[in-house]
Amino acid sequence: MHSSFRPRLAPLVLAALCSAGIAQAQGSNAVAPTPVQVRPEVDQAYTQLMAAPAIAELLEAVKADHARSIEDLRLLTEIEAPPFKEQARAEAFLARMKALGLTDAKIDAEGNVVGLRRGTGNGPTLLISAHLDTVFPTGTDVKIKERDGKLYAPGISDDTRGLAVLLSWLKVLNDRQVRTTGDLLFVGNVGEEELGNLRGMKRLFAEHPEIDGMVGIEPAPQGAVLVLGTASHRYEVTFKGPGGHSYGAFGQVPSAIHGMGRAIAKIGDIRTPTFPKTTFTVGTVGGGTSVNTIAPDARMAVDIRSDEMGPLLETEKQILAAIDAGVAEENKRWGVDTLSVSTKLIGDRPGGRTPSDSVIVEAATRANTAFGQKTLLSGASTDANVPMSLGIPAIIIGGGGKTGGFHALSEWIDLTDAWKGAQNSLVTVLGLVGVEGVSAPLLANRPAGAKR
Ligand SMILES: [Zn+2]
Repeated sequence: MHSSFRPRLAPLVLAALCSAGIAQAQGSNAVAPTPVQVRPEVDQAYTQLMAAPAIAELLEAVKADHARSIEDLRLLTEIEAPPFKEQARAEAFLARMKALGLTDAKIDAEGNVVGLRRGTGNGPTLLISAHLDTVFPTGTDVKIKERDGKLYAPGISDDTRGLAVLLSWLKVLNDRQVRTTGDLLFVGNVGEEELGNLRGMKRLFAEHPEIDGMVGIEPAPQGAVLVLGTASHRYEVTFKGPGGHSYGAFGQVPSAIHGMGRAIAKIGDIRTPTFPKTTFTVGTVGGGTSVNTIAPDARMAVDIRSDEMGPLLETEKQILAAIDAGVAEENKRWGVDTLSVSTKLIGDRPGGRTPSDSVIVEAATRANTAFGQKTLLSGASTDANVPMSLGIPAIIIGGGGKTGGFHALSEWIDLTDAWKGAQNSLVTVLGLVGVEGVSAPLLANRPAGAKR
């Protein structure tokens, strides 16, 4: 983690939500409006952008492209994209990207669609992304149904709307010949949803050390800015022993279940900080053969989460030590060494936070103000977890439209005036990379040494 990193947000202003997306801030997990101070250079950049005729025309073009962009949304939504099976949708997204002007765009080794729109030079590189994958398995009915002015389909808002917004931005920037100073790396990535473990973003940041910041598009109310990425590690733990008759073998063999019980008791006593919020639980247990058998096997699943990597890794260390200690005690109790344990990491999402006084958060806040929106800082587990864990400025914002029902078959989007959100988020992006003849880039180029 970046050495100068420190939390600047009171825990009360953040709600750590699940991986479904920050749009849940619309519901019972709503977070309070958060005052973010905006430094003069940020204010100036957005004042210049909003006053420039070229940008006014660009924003008009976003509005004018609204109906066409819904065709992209329809096309992509109706191509299934279960975790690890994003390829068909990736190819369709790549074809659209190429048709709209990024002729060098490619699918990388992990399955991400990556296209670079070059700036005029010497500016920062900003990753702008939406994820290709949905939570829905192969065979799910992804045909769009229209009802009460809403479009219903699994994955339509999380995150296919984000993909369509990226394509719309690409089209209008090219049509209006807007030249940014920094480079825009357009990405439709794989592996955001649970078992994907952020594999798409992990690959991108490993292969693109030139990235200076990230703005991800996810379903979220206009004004929401995600700044917190809760990290999680999950383990499957398996205890194995010889087993034996509960009467006949008594005294000669250790019990896998007793050993696991000793481990769980020690895990239950571990203390974690309340801020940054750090949690753990043994979520499931299983094992044993019958009531009159000394158990030859036992297994449990453990979930560990934190809003920062340090406390996560410390808690993980203590849990792994507790597991070994439980096994050692059980063996010692019977004077044997025949109980063993294996641990398997089944979930690995890094995390972190983007400070509320960083330029990227101030930029989003100022752009929201320009669109008459109050800024809400929020948290969730998203693609932004990866850059946050690397100390690279990252936020997730909405792309317009009212959305709901994420991860359910009844997922929907209401696209009434959705172009307003697409304008707002595009302006956020433009301030960060700068526009030739209008405003200087706000996002700093990371020092070469920081780029591995
Ligand atoms: Zn999502």
